[in-house]
Amino acid sequence: MSSNPMSSNSAFDAIIVGGGHNGLAAAAYLAKAGRKVLLLEKLEHPGGAAVSAQAFDGVDARLSRYSYLVSLLPQQVIDDLGLRIRLARRRYSSYTPDPHDAGRTLLIDNGDDTATAASFAAVGAPDGEFQAFTEFYAGFRQLTEALWPTMTSPLPTRSEAKDLAARAGAAAAWDAMTERPIGDIIAKSLQNDLVRGVVLTDALIGTFARADDEDLQQNICFLYHLVGGGTGDWDVPVGGMGAVSGELERTARAAGATILTSADVTAVRPGGVVSYRHAGADHTATASWVLANVAPVVLDRLRNSDPSGGTARKATPHATRNPNHLREGAQIKVNLLLKRLPGCWMRL
Ligand SMILES: Cc1cc2nc3c(=O)[nH]c(=O)nc-3n(C[C@H](O)[C@H](O)[C@H](O)COP(=O)(O)OP(=O)(O)OC[C@H]3O[C@@H](n4cnc5c(N)ncnc54)[C@H](O)[C@@H]3O)c2cc1C
Repeated sequence: MSSNPMSSNSAFDAIIVGGGHNGLAAAAYLAKAGRKVLLLEKLEHPGGAAVSAQAFDGVDARLSRYSYLVSLLPQQVIDDLGLRIRLARRRYSSYTPDPHDAGRTLLIDNGDDTATAASFAAVGAPDGEFQAFTEFYAGFRQLTEALWPTMTSPLPTRSEAKDLAARAGAAAAWDAMTERPIGDIIAKSLQNDLVRGVVLTDALIGTFARADDEDLQQNICFLYHLVGGGTGDWDVPVGGMGAVSGELERTARAAGATILTSADVTAVRPGGVVSYRHAGADHTATASWVLANVAPVVLDRLRNSDPSGGTARKATPHATRNPNHLREGAQIKVNLLLKRLPGCWMRL
């Protein structure tokens, strides 16, 4: 969408800054509830990090450009919004080369324990390591099954969540997840460094954390990787992540939300005043509620920026409380499209 349907100063019930899949979901829910919603996305298309692309010229395949697996999408959201998406089970969760021996690779095959156990042996993991790996994840399963339903309910307090875990027989898993760096538990439970590294991926990917950080950011990341659906399964969306965002966009628009792309928000001020630049002109819209679907570092900039182009005022209280929230990201993803499986995989 490129035209601007708004006058220079329009009022809404809610303005959503940023059109990633979370902003689209919020727009869909609010519009379905009868609210007047404006979503502002600075890129030419919504979806944020959950988009598909035809990545290779001449190859008619749409791939997830960034985010590529679905686990944290509750069935309730799919049902509430009537999303038409297809998720395929991912059988192989990782295939990790041994940095010390290019000929050895650790395959985690969720559909074949025997093959995975053989792969553990092939990379030199000690006897019993596959069993320890299996028990390690099983130990958290009762906890994640208990916590998953809370994702669609009001956020429980720490003591409420702890009680919930205890009632599910997962008090030890709760303590392991919330009291000590997850790196300690991984080091105690598993012996092989390659296996430890595969498990640590769930704790460190997408963060700047270390396995032994005392602020436990890595534990939070680990929990998010295990809690989806209560099982920690990660599924592949057919058509890539763009198919998921596309459905959210379709639902939001059908419910009456206004989704404006190429609309770069430049400031968010008290009283729900949002300034943005669109089609070469500056605009202002107001709302009772402003929802930020942008990174904390972006929100901080918007709250402190002067829409006339001035410089930042003092940092917000939330910024000074947690400086980690103000870090910019740094990620690399390499997309490959294979015509056939690599030879080393075929041998397994
Ligand atoms: C390489 C990579 C792989 C990943 N893999 C997975 C995965 O497999 N599974 C998974 O669950 N998660 C994965 N993630 C994480 C996941 O992508 C994010 O958690 C998720 O996309 C966040 O969605 P969001 O809607 O909250 O925000 P985003 O997708 O970040 O959307 C924010 C939007 O705000 C817009 N915006 C920013 N500033 C402004 C502004 N000033 N004005 C207007 N709009 C603005 C941006 O353009 C963007 O569209 C991955 C992330 C990356 C980077």
